[in-house]
Amino acid sequence: MSSLHEFIRAAYEQAPAIREKFLSAGLQPSDIRTVSDLGRVPVTRKDELAKRQRSNLPFGGFLTLPVDRLQRIFISPGPIYDPQGPGADYWRWGQALTAAGFTRGDIVQNTFSYHLTPAGMMFDDALRHLGCTVIPAGVGNTELQVQILRELGVTGYVGVPSFLYTLLQKSRELGLSRQDIRLCKAWVAAEKLSEDLRALLARDFGVEVYQGYGTADLGCVAFECPERRGFHLADGVIVEIVDPESGRSLAAGQPGEVVVTVLEPSYPLLRFGTGDLGALTDVPCPCGRPGPRLTGILGRTMDGVKVKGLFLYPHQISDFQARFPEIKHCQAVVSQEDFRDVLTLRVEPVLGVPVDDLAARVQREAKEVLRFTCRVELVPPGTLANEKLLIDARNWD
Ligand SMILES: [Zn+2]
Repeated sequence: MSSLHEFIRAAYEQAPAIREKFLSAGLQPSDIRTVSDLGRVPVTRKDELAKRQRSNLPFGGFLTLPVDRLQRIFISPGPIYDPQGPGADYWRWGQALTAAGFTRGDIVQNTFSYHLTPAGMMFDDALRHLGCTVIPAGVGNTELQVQILRELGVTGYVGVPSFLYTLLQKSRELGLSRQDIRLCKAWVAAEKLSEDLRALLARDFGVEVYQGYGTADLGCVAFECPERRGFHLADGVIVEIVDPESGRSLAAGQPGEVVVTVLEPSYPLLRFGTGDLGALTDVPCPCGRPGPRLTGILGRTMDGVKVKGLFLYPHQISDFQARFPEIKHCQAVVSQEDFRDVLTLRVEPVLGVPVDDLAARVQREAKEVLRFTCRVELVPPGTLANEKLLIDARNWD
């Protein structure tokens, strides 16, 4: 694809859904010449894609090829039909697996599901494109999978992190030691990977774990490099972080919805709203790869609450609490007085710590870090143990 502008023009001419979206927003293809113009195109969310597919089967007017030119058609929950267009490594995962050290000569056990949904085939295609040998193991059959791991000399794992842990634990239960298993690298997605689990898998089992981010509709969006500090944006996509209400792009550092444009001419999803919450950082990565990185997926945008015109998300409250070792639990409550939003931080101190100036310090730091002026309320031990991090107590009736 020679330029964003040409990509947009072709999408407009060949994909009726794109043409409709442009016309309804009063846009012409010539209005979109640079990435910063993209913000004028309305975001397409998953429910809109599903609706468009229902009224215009099977691909809702986004596919620019005859259906018989596709390699495969997948069915994601919804149901949403996902096309696999022409070409090797259609979803671009090869770059993510390469960054994790997967290469020719690896024997890889792929434990993502191979039927209906695309994950299994996505990684199968990418791995074979890299020259790896793939075992299409799919989901489940733990004991058989341990046997495969050992008998076939598997060197790489692809799947969710919890199943990797299950397999390796099972191998120990069955009396296998580290010498019996050659597995040394793993690539995981679709589940949150805790740093504790990552460290345990490296320490106890000698497996280095990398992760990436993508979806069934989009394929590869971002992935970790050997530094494993956030996710580099993949080649072939444009990633924006936007205000989930207005669809406007946000500056680096601010959390918002991850919105992705895939530069794939056969299925041009322009500004696809993932519903995932993320932020970008401009801080250069020591690995030397250029461009911004996603600093992780922080939750779902629907968990956010708008307070005084700014979104507040549960992870911000837990991050904030982590700055104070003397706080055991913290909860943010949004209420209204005189039709104005009031943010109250309810703070449960660790039992026995002095709390003289705690409230004042929390208030100062909240202003600095969360960028909200808030009230602070100290609560007795046990009050917040099973409470949500963020509560919207405003009455909208
Ligand atoms: Zn890097």
